[in-house]
Amino acid sequence: MNITETLEKLSGKALVDCSDQELYLALLELVRAKSAERVKPVHGRKLYYISAEFLIGKLLSNNLINLGLYDEVRDVLAAAGKKLSDIEEVEPEPSLGNGGLGRLAACFLDSLATLNLPGDGIGLRYHFGLFHQSFENDIQNEKPDPWLTAHSWAEKTDVTYPVELAGKSYTARLYKLAVTGYEGRTNTLNLFDLDTIDEGIVHDGIAFDKTAIDKNLTLFLYPDDSDEAGRRLRIYQQYLMVSAGAQLILAECVARGCDYHDLADYAAIQINDTHPSMVIPELIRLLGEHGIDFEEAVEIVTKTCAYTNHTILAEALEKWPRAYLDAVVPQLMPIIEKLDALARTRSEDASLAIIDADDVVHMAHMDIHFTHSTNGVATLHTEILKNTELHNFYELYPEKFNNKTNGITFRRWLLECDPRLTAVLEKHIGTGFRKDASELEKLLHFADDAAVLEELREVKTENKEALADWLRRTQGVTVNTGAMFDIQSKRLHEYKRQQLNLLYLIHQYHEIKAGHLPATPLVSIFGAKAAPAYIIAKDIIHALLVLSKVIAADPVVSKWLQLVFIENYNVTAAEKLIPACDLSEQISLASKEASGTGNMKFMLNGALTLGTMDGANVEIAQQVGEDNVYIFGQTSDQVIHRYAAGDYIAEQWYEGDPNLRRAIDFLTGPEMLAAGHAENLCRLHDELIHKDWFQTLPDFNAYIVRKNQALSDYACDPQGWRRKCLVNIAKAGLFSSDRTIAEYDRDIWQLGK
Ligand SMILES: *Cc1c(COP(=O)(O)O)cnc(C)c1O
Repeated sequence: MNITETLEKLSGKALVDCSDQELYLALLELVRAKSAERVKPVHGRKLYYISAEFLIGKLLSNNLINLGLYDEVRDVLAAAGKKLSDIEEVEPEPSLGNGGLGRLAACFLDSLATLNLPGDGIGLRYHFGLFHQSFENDIQNEKPDPWLTAHSWAEKTDVTYPVELAGKSYTARLYKLAVTGYEGRTNTLNLFDLDTIDEGIVHDGIAFDKTAIDKNLTLFLYPDDSDEAGRRLRIYQQYLMVSAGAQLILAECVARGCDYHDLADYAAIQINDTHPSMVIPELIRLLGEHGIDFEEAVEIVTKTCAYTNHTILAEALEKWPRAYLDAVVPQLMPIIEKLDALARTRSEDASLAIIDADDVVHMAHMDIHFTHSTNGVATLHTEILKNTELHNFYELYPEKFNNKTNGITFRRWLLECDPRLTAVLEKHIGTGFRKDASELEKLLHFADDAAVLEELREVKTENKEALADWLRRTQGVTVNTGAMFDIQSKRLHEYKRQQLNLLYLIHQYHEIKAGHLPATPLVSIFGAKAAPAYIIAKDIIHALLVLSKVIAADPVVSKWLQLVFIENYNVTAAEKLIPACDLSEQISLASKEASGTGNMKFMLNGALTLGTMDGANVEIAQQVGEDNVYIFGQTSDQVIHRYAAGDYIAEQWYEGDPNLRRAIDFLTGPEMLAAGHAENLCRLHDELIHKDWFQTLPDFNAYIVRKNQALSDYACDPQGWRRKCLVNIAKAGLFSSDRTIAEYDRDIWQLGK
């Protein structure tokens, strides 16, 4: 049967008579059937990637591409007068992650399946993903973001496992979501849920009764943990995930012939950040039930598990008051105590203990002691872990520490999101880069080929027009596509320093009013969600939204400057923004961004990076050379020393620099106060002068100089600019998650085929 016949059979109608919704459902069934054909038996060791987040994004197009059906389906639909892009809009986005960490997990699943490696995900089937963001009165508003429909990619199974929470037994049900690889195998994302969840308990936006576990456990991704009930709920979620996950792993391995003693020959378990850390004591507990003594169980689990660290921000390294664990997972506490005692025999250094003197349980410490590998996610990040944050652990276990620089899947972040660029690349260098990203380097042969550079310019222009269309349709704003598109899209966090970009825009506002015109008009685009309880982050959003109005209201400035803050940044929005970007803002305080993956997506799509020497920006700069990237700001060493000395006083910078003072004081000046809320603006003003924990002010002038250099290069030497873009695309191969996964496999997992 050909595609048309199959789709007509599935929908029961001629294609021309189908609604987009009916076509979507028929395509979903088609993809399911085709991906099932690519499930393969597992030989040898299989990976289980346990993660509280899988920010998978929409799946239809991605699956069609990976199954090799995309072009045919698009053409068949077009012949019936239907557009695949319209059908894509029917699909709700599963936003089962906050940002980079969850998106990384999704890219890894794609690469595992593409490389034909047996590797499944284990996570939770949240009923609502990350909240839906809207702006009301220039303030972020949060609402639930449902993605589960009657027909969902995640299919219910009959498989259930008992999980004991606070002494009561619950039944975790397994849902399976097929993960297709590009011309590869089909793996599985295993998501657990309770049958008793009640979406009806959500009220007033995203508030809900946090105590009724059977009704709320998997209701939301990472519920607000600003209060104790929220933090406890997180432990409940984590334990449901790891207990059901561990039972699934053991059941699958036993079915393949494992006798528990040789678990490490059948399974490799990757612990994605500390959220799944309880899998360590849980596996020890379960192995104990099968007659394996504590000592051997520790050895088996250490050989099976590996841990990825994602951050050096102390507040993100999870630690739980022992009383919480006593209450929620009493069955694990005796094991965690024994692990703590064992760790103390390995080192007398109390800072390496699992349970500290205040009865706080450090999850990362348990991970490092009782897994065989601890990896950072970019070269600089891993060095900081070894030399600073986890130095004492590194001295105890130097052989455990290794680096795995993050990557992104080129199928979604190039083939799917930028078909125009993909077509130009394929015309000149063939299709080999789809599976071997290093082949992008062939593009360097064309670095001085004016015709190719012109093609790249045309692609970018068309992508900017497509983004402008989308902004008009979805956000109701009109942008000048003749301007440079400058984009900062990522979670809103002070360490990522959207506030630095804010100060730049205020500075430019003043400069333009004073007649100092920039080299080119600039459209500055933001996309970012702030954690619902993160007050200053929400103040920064407010300030940007208000500034956007102030700029738009000024007849002179608005000719040169436009500030657009898009609502509800998610994977779908990222796929629209990234191909249209000229300048990629990666301006975190050096040493604070572990890797970043947004930086890689923009580079791959031919944007130039304006960034600090932080995370994977360092490796981007190394790849392309200093002429092809705009680096500024303090180095990580300088920042680390400044923190150690504790001598950073924001107020001195503010007092000492009239430009900086002018920009900061504008936040509470008459123009902003007339358009915004004094409470939010004053709080942000105060924060910048009296705290500025992420050292925005010392980098302010360097940022302005570098950014204006980029504007001037763009305007005055367009051909030179395109050449830089070409070099960036050509050198992006290193950042394919296929490379990352091949390294994990080589150094940590050694999976069967
Ligand atoms: C890639 C991605 C991120 C991570 O961006 P960073 O700039 O690395 O923080 C966050 N959210 C979405 C939707 C993404 O696609």
